[in-house]
Amino acid sequence: MNSSVELGRIAGIRIGVHWSWLAVLALIVWSLATAIFPAENPGLSRETYLAMAVAAAVLFFASLLLHELGHALQARREGMEIEGITLWLFGGVAKFLGMFRSAGAEFRIAVAGPLVSLVLGAASVAAAFFLDLPTAVDGVLAWLGITNLVLLAFNLLPALPLDGGRVLRSALWAARRDFAWATRIAAGVARAFAFLFIAGGIALFVFGDDSIGGVWLAFIGWFLLGAASAEARHLAVRDALAGLRVSDLMVREPATVTPDLRLGDFLDDVLWTRRHTTYPVVEGGRAIGLLPFRCVAQVPRAEWDARTVRDCMIPLEQVPTLRAEQELVEALAELGESDVHRGLVLDDSRLVGFLSMTDLVRALETRGLRRRRR
Ligand SMILES: [Zn+2]
Repeated sequence: MNSSVELGRIAGIRIGVHWSWLAVLALIVWSLATAIFPAENPGLSRETYLAMAVAAAVLFFASLLLHELGHALQARREGMEIEGITLWLFGGVAKFLGMFRSAGAEFRIAVAGPLVSLVLGAASVAAAFFLDLPTAVDGVLAWLGITNLVLLAFNLLPALPLDGGRVLRSALWAARRDFAWATRIAAGVARAFAFLFIAGGIALFVFGDDSIGGVWLAFIGWFLLGAASAEARHLAVRDALAGLRVSDLMVREPATVTPDLRLGDFLDDVLWTRRHTTYPVVEGGRAIGLLPFRCVAQVPRAEWDARTVRDCMIPLEQVPTLRAEQELVEALAELGESDVHRGLVLDDSRLVGFLSMTDLVRALETRGLRRRRR
């Protein structure tokens, strides 16, 4: 989930917003202010409808965030690391690092979010129904409560990666004690739902009178289809890399360069003899950065003798750093997220190896093939 803006941290968890959410926010405010609130709560002024719409959108945003925080805090209680929460087009995504420890852990993490939504939705509806509130407040709470409950129902469909799908997988996992099998079945069920949505959406568009609803339904199905396939693919990768560590695949004692080397000398002495595309930069036994050849290539020829490796290199803070005993699945996630696609394997600050995404993908292909043949 790239291209998101960081909003801040709650309980140490990074909260981000994907740009698509800003569009959704604007759309919600617009449709609430001009259509939904005037229809449900007639007789108020246009300014009041606008204020109600903004308040409702902000509260809706907060309730999505609380839902994801429910997942994240429960995950932390189960001993998982949480990277952050990003709100985007279809709600929120809490990003966990590592694996679920057990079927029970996945189940508890999966239901924590819907429980939060249930409490928020029920409390809002109850307040709107039973309390004697001003019409504007009443309207906002009723919409907020019903929206939370509708989303809750959708979210509980047994279609991975929706929460209901995670509940289904944890149940299958507990029944057979086979995580891979559980994921395959749950992803299959999710794909069936996705096709149902797409078919229903098309039918609604062609034969029904709600063509916009049809397009939405098909769109949601299409999104589900992609997400379910990604989940299955992720599992296949994990399967192929299972048991491997960074030390199994890293290049030991890679060719390095020093930061004070002039680019001209680098090109003459190092590049033409070694012919790697990227070099770790080491100073006094400590790794301090990474020099990809493409960075050197961007420097005009006239400046080659005036500039050094240090001017060109990517500093250590921007390079993924790995540990030799780290699992490869984890390393893959880290390399995949950085633009560098390469990582330095360090022991404290001492360079012990070098791992590139290309090496990882190659290993993945050969191991995947070997497994298929067995
Ligand atoms: Zn959830």
